[in-house]
Amino acid sequence: MTRRSTSRRTPPRWATADLRAAVAGLKGDVKFSAPLKEYTSFRIGGPADVLVMPADADDVSRLVRQAQAADIPIFVLGGTNLLVRDHGIRGIVVSLARMKAITDEPGHVLYAEGGVGMPTLMKHATSRGLSGLEWAAGIPGTAAGCVVMNAGTTLGEMKDSVKAVRIVESPGVTIDVPASAIRFSYRQALLPRGIVVGVWVQLKPAPKDKIQATVKEYLRHRKNTQPLTLPSAGCVFRNPGHDAAGRVIESAGLKGARVGDAQVSDKHANFVVNLGHAKAADVIALIKKVGRTVEDKTGLTLELELKIVGEP
Ligand SMILES: Cc1cc2nc3c(=O)[nH]c(=O)nc-3n(C[C@H](O)[C@H](O)[C@H](O)COP(=O)(O)OP(=O)(O)OC[C@H]3O[C@@H](n4cnc5c(N)ncnc54)[C@H](O)[C@@H]3O)c2cc1C
Repeated sequence: MTRRSTSRRTPPRWATADLRAAVAGLKGDVKFSAPLKEYTSFRIGGPADVLVMPADADDVSRLVRQAQAADIPIFVLGGTNLLVRDHGIRGIVVSLARMKAITDEPGHVLYAEGGVGMPTLMKHATSRGLSGLEWAAGIPGTAAGCVVMNAGTTLGEMKDSVKAVRIVESPGVTIDVPASAIRFSYRQALLPRGIVVGVWVQLKPAPKDKIQATVKEYLRHRKNTQPLTLPSAGCVFRNPGHDAAGRVIESAGLKGARVGDAQVSDKHANFVVNLGHAKAADVIALIKKVGRTVEDKTGLTLELELKIVGEP
């Protein structure tokens, strides 16, 4: 007797041939049914129909053109501020993990391909005696993701250093957008729609030991205050007004609250950590519980900083 599958995975809305046509001829890596838990800092997430790691910006342009022709959606991830739902993402998921070049340009400017990790960019700047990215010490996102999220800390934000951004728009056209044309605000940036494939940052010369001392101090602070040894996606909620979401959640008595293997960190209450086998559904249930409890106790409605994507 054959058993019927109980999987609720949504069937793709396009033919396999169209999916294959969309990724045909690329120089980068292409993986079908790729488990996204392997590509997110939370270590959670179902499969992408297809995961593409383009080799360069031309590859991105070709992919965008072909995907548009086949009418297949694209989602881009760095993977560190994301919760991918348990049934994954339909269509094409792009990771810029192969686009990691950094170029030194005149006038204390660095150009980073979109997939360069912020820690790598920050270390490169430090090695050149260039200051301006110390705030990013310990932020694990990509340079592109940090522009899109206007990532930041109490020391500074991405917007303070961005000079311009290179974007591949639909249908595969590359444009350079100066920072003055980007509207940055708290943990977001209004950019033309497309894939950010590169970022120019404007830095200032400074003594290396001074930069290193600031970075060291900030990393020490992070280690003492954040649960860095367990998988997470950074802060779950945006800070409400001038208060810190972590403080509000902690005073609502939620440190250590748990659903399955998802737990409100007992080190920093605005982090949810994966204790081992957490599902996206567990994290979402826990986030709802936190939101409800805080609202009941304080009247505050917390807004998500975490992006939740994919099929429930
Ligand atoms: C331990 C830990 C500590 C953290 N600390 C901080 C912190 O101090 N401050 C802070 O701001 N954040 C922090 N974060 C969160 C995270 O690193 C940042 O939000 C970062 O900007 C996300 O970058 P990403 O490349 O991972 O993008 P993702 O999280 O994958 O994506 C974020 C959004 O950007 C879009 N996106 C990503 N790449 C591109 C691209 N190339 N083109 C177009 N759109 C794109 C995605 O589609 C999504 O909408 C932390 C995370 C962790 C795990």
